[in-house]
Amino acid sequence: MKAEIIAVGSELLLGQISNTNARFISTQLAEIGLDVYYHTVVGDNADRLVESIKIAEKRADLIIFTGGLGPTKDDLTKETIAKHLGLSLVLDNHAIIYIEDFFKRMGRKMTDNNKKQALVLEGSTVLENKHGMAPGMLLTTESHSYMLLPGPPKEMEPMFQFEAKPLLPKLLLDENVIMSHVIRFYGIGEAELETEVQDLLDNQTNPTLAPLASDGEVTLRLTAKSNSEDEAWKKIEELQAEILNRVGKFVYGYNNDSLPSKLREILIENDLTISAAESMTAGLFQSELAAVPGMGEALVGGMITYTEDVKIKQLGVDAAIIEKYSVVSSECAEQMALKVKEKFQTDIGVGITGAAGPDGHGGQPAGTIWIGIALGDLKPVTYKLNLSGLRNTNRIRTVKFTIYYLIR
Ligand code: ATP
Ligand code: MG
Repeated sequence: MKAEIIAVGSELLLGQISNTNARFISTQLAEIGLDVYYHTVVGDNADRLVESIKIAEKRADLIIFTGGLGPTKDDLTKETIAKHLGLSLVLDNHAIIYIEDFFKRMGRKMTDNNKKQALVLEGSTVLENKHGMAPGMLLTTESHSYMLLPGPPKEMEPMFQFEAKPLLPKLLLDENVIMSHVIRFYGIGEAELETEVQDLLDNQTNPTLAPLASDGEVTLRLTAKSNSEDEAWKKIEELQAEILNRVGKFVYGYNNDSLPSKLREILIENDLTISAAESMTAGLFQSELAAVPGMGEALVGGMITYTEDVKIKQLGVDAAIIEKYSVVSSECAEQMALKVKEKFQTDIGVGITGAAGPDGHGGQPAGTIWIGIALGDLKPVTYKLNLSGLRNTNRIRTVKFTIYYLIR
């Protein structure tokens, strides 16, 4: 099934607002594996709207409209669609009741033109507007489905998500279960991941496979369509097994997992506490962890040891080691991890030191980072990064890599 989104509103064409509705709906449809082929924007003009509908009918099965459902004269979406399809508009009793109710709650008097908002396309399923007055509609004819949604995002978004989206799988006639599953990767680039699964990407039909990269993380979304949830999940599991076979070592989580939330889960499961001494990230690592609720059970505290002096005098890093290897070194990261672990009496100590950029530091070029991890009585492990981003990107990537090494 192919979808097209038609956003109606002259203010969009005038550049007064951006078409965030299309963006929201597209994101939502991608989640259930429904393909959007076109976004159209058209002004508040009946003739041009009809033209757009005719074009959309040639290339889409589901046409989603936003805007122009309100009570004013320029709101002409449903009137135009009714005329185009030869349908009448009928008063929806349920809508009248919640419009009246809406006015009561607002303490305002309902005017006659507000009743116009309770008119819906005959034969359509009415979508309740919990945050405004104009109801939405879903109408299915022999050849197409038409969905009408209000313009204001705060009305449209909840209506789409909670009223309309659950109805969509039924439109896909024979295969009415759509299941989506996300695999999350770190430590592998998008291009490299794509190469590893290229043949799966080329041959995808059901499940479909969609890669997405942002902020150094890569995800693969698997979407299966089937007659039952069990069947759909089986399809996803099969494809997932093949993917894990090839690039499983880069997987850190699934669906709504994040690197810090995954780390918390592992720390709590294993009853481990953690502390960190941070140089170039200056607290960013601990801040990222603290953003996860319940982190207090594992994160004890730490230090920002930005200068050499503080590393030596406050944290207790051996001056001779810095003298010999410099602050940007495996040895320094190792010492930082050990010392902070000792100071804060934790199971794990983390040391982060490096040259964030744009200039080099400690005799090392910009982007050279050393991460030290000390766990219990084991010999600390260190990792080297050679990052090429701007200063802050390098700092964020360093935090993500640190978490990734901890959960691996
Ligand atoms: P109302 O009952 O408020 O008149 P409506 O369904 O008639 O709602 P419009 O009149 O077309 O919708 O738009 C109302 C407001 O909603 C716009 O001024 C704008 O702020 C917002 N809006 C409309 N379309 C979009 C869009 N595509 N993306 C983002 N915001 C939009
Ligand atoms: Mg309006």
